[in-house]
Amino acid sequence: MQERVGIVGAGIVGLAHAWSAAERGHQVTVFERTGVASGASIRNFGMVWPVGQPDATLPIALLSRQRWQILANESDIWINPCGSLHLAHRADEWDVLQEFYHAQTNGALGKHLQLLNRDESLSRSPAINPDGFLGSLYCDLEMCVNPTEAIRMLPDWLHNRYGIDFQFESTVVEAQSGSLRTSAGATHQFDRIIVCSGHDFETLYPLQFRTLPLQKCKLQMMRTVTQPDSWRLGPHIASGLTLRHYTSFRCCQSLSKLADRIAEETPELNELGIHVMASQDNLGRVVLGDSHEYGQR
Ligand SMILES: Cc1cc2nc3c(=O)[nH]c(=O)nc-3n(C[C@H](O)[C@H](O)[C@H](O)COP(=O)(O)OP(=O)(O)OC[C@H]3O[C@@H](n4cnc5c(N)ncnc54)[C@H](O)[C@@H]3O)c2cc1C
Repeated sequence: MQERVGIVGAGIVGLAHAWSAAERGHQVTVFERTGVASGASIRNFGMVWPVGQPDATLPIALLSRQRWQILANESDIWINPCGSLHLAHRADEWDVLQEFYHAQTNGALGKHLQLLNRDESLSRSPAINPDGFLGSLYCDLEMCVNPTEAIRMLPDWLHNRYGIDFQFESTVVEAQSGSLRTSAGATHQFDRIIVCSGHDFETLYPLQFRTLPLQKCKLQMMRTVTQPDSWRLGPHIASGLTLRHYTSFRCCQSLSKLADRIAEETPELNELGIHVMASQDNLGRVVLGDSHEYGQR
């Protein structure tokens, strides 16, 4: 049965829900408080990153990747199937990469992974620091999008393709029991309301935000200007530090040795949740990051 679906927020989560609901034949309206979404969805690496997901969430990441592929085929949105390289500059990092690779031989990632020696890796990206470099793990699943472009183009595509109604510059001040009210005083009735307001969930539902096990996380990163001479990064790059960030690598016994070394050598990296990754968009700009501060700091 066709439902009227109201969505709060036109970030990537709101747009994804709008797309899925419209595909199922529902009548969808999206409310976005700004003229164009400008939250976390445009301030990120643009990495589609299945390799970081543990077994439990990998199927969702692969499904998400498939959706980006559909967009690549059906719209003008730029998507680069660049893959990823995890680099090892220390013996303990190389141990984790080898253990992960062998553990995945019969796993869902198995056929997508390649363990590359030093020279094979260096030929894949000009960005690798050759000093003390041992080798890398390549995965062919990762993709790159330009988040700013994609978030700006998706509403038009969704509107033209599915007739989804977008109400920009429309702030929702109340959403409950099938009724949604905007700051302009208009009330809209829906069969289902999906709240995708990002960290602003706190504003609409302060009580739930305080009582649910939720906390904010602040990330810092930087974006360079367009690189000269058409320089290209190649695959996304992740350093050995990243191995302790994404939960997929927690299946490796050798990870504890690496984590212990980092805790001893550079505890400030743990304190600020720092690891190093890089991606490059279609305009040649490189995004480097990042750090993670949890809670109200
Ligand atoms: C630095 C950084 C790097 C990241 N890198 C990656 C990456 O490479 N790959 C990846 O998959 N993820 C990455 N992420 C995570 C990813 O960006 C977020 O998980 C995702 O963008 C969250 O999307 P969202 O739609 O929930 O939130 P948002 O993008 O914040 O969108 C919420 C929208 O809701 C609107 N809104 C809020 N309240 C209201 C209201 N009351 N009425 C109307 N509209 C409202 C806001 O204006 C906003 O546009 C990164 C995040 C950060 C911060």
